[in-house]
Amino acid sequence: MTTSLAPSTTELETADRAWTDWSAQQWTYWRAEVARLASERDAVILAHNYQRPEIQDVAHHVGDSLGLSRIAAQASASTIIFAGVHFMAETAKILSPDKRVVIPDARAGCSLADTVTADQLRGWKAEHPGAAVVSYVNTTAEVKAETDVCCTSANAVEVVSSIPSDTEVLFLPDMFLGAHVKRMTQRDNIHIWLGECHVHAGISPQNLVQAVRDNADAELYIHPECGCTTSALWLSSTGDLPSERTHILSTGGMLEQARTSTAGKVLVATEIGMLHQLRKVNAHTEFEPVNPQASCRFMKMITPPKLITALRDGNDEVTVEEDIAARARSAVMRMIEIGTPGSGE
Ligand code: SF4
Repeated sequence: MTTSLAPSTTELETADRAWTDWSAQQWTYWRAEVARLASERDAVILAHNYQRPEIQDVAHHVGDSLGLSRIAAQASASTIIFAGVHFMAETAKILSPDKRVVIPDARAGCSLADTVTADQLRGWKAEHPGAAVVSYVNTTAEVKAETDVCCTSANAVEVVSSIPSDTEVLFLPDMFLGAHVKRMTQRDNIHIWLGECHVHAGISPQNLVQAVRDNADAELYIHPECGCTTSALWLSSTGDLPSERTHILSTGGMLEQARTSTAGKVLVATEIGMLHQLRKVNAHTEFEPVNPQASCRFMKMITPPKLITALRDGNDEVTVEEDIAARARSAVMRMIEIGTPGSGE
């Protein structure tokens, strides 16, 4: 690692393994270099809520996957630097086909999106002819292209309710979100793909019950993809969890709720990167993770040096074949027409 006050861009980039040891002066230089390159390359930097705090702090916009894609489509910049995972950058490209979309590391995947391929979905559709396919936004462009309508965790219930009650629904890929939708819509003709995110599934009912026991007055924010959601709703209905203090929220919903919260403490059941934004919008409430180990290693693959490389060299550029993009865009736009998409992950 260099000790110079102003390391070259290449030095910053090659210090990938040592950036956690940067001095305050090196961080200052890095922030200035990010701003300089963004301006020079006519780039807007978008960061997902689960990104490292350092990345969130230099981004022009921080938010959930769909909200960021919509910002990308409206941005005047010609280049979008998407600090998130690959399916998110793909969605931005689908909605902004004329812009250059760059992800700082194309290997940043998603264990949930990887649970279903377009081939598998085509096979599932063949088993249920006439069924409507509803896909969560955490899916690849190819899967979205085989989808009738996309959904986020905030509008999944609304999207499924918009489908005629006598039409079968194939819901994918998240089984926890699917179980939540099935319960809320009271439909028995929903088939749910058995996919899960390893991070959210790792937030267990045991974590939740223990956290609630340890913090008797705290409020709970629970993302519907969490493994604990089903049990959280059940525990809430049986009185084991305080229903008036238990909130099932998308990441955008968590931020909205946090802005006006007067709670002394809030326990948060989702990826721990979310805590950075929650603490920023409300400094008076203590936000604590239900499981401090709930960290997405794919999200954390985007490092400060890689952001420099992305800005400087345009690596890794995200492309989506036009016919796939067109069909995937229809599924996303249909969701937007049904109602306010709110936010997804
Ligand atoms: S937290 Fe889970 S769903 Fe989100 S990007 Fe990581 S692996 Fe995918």
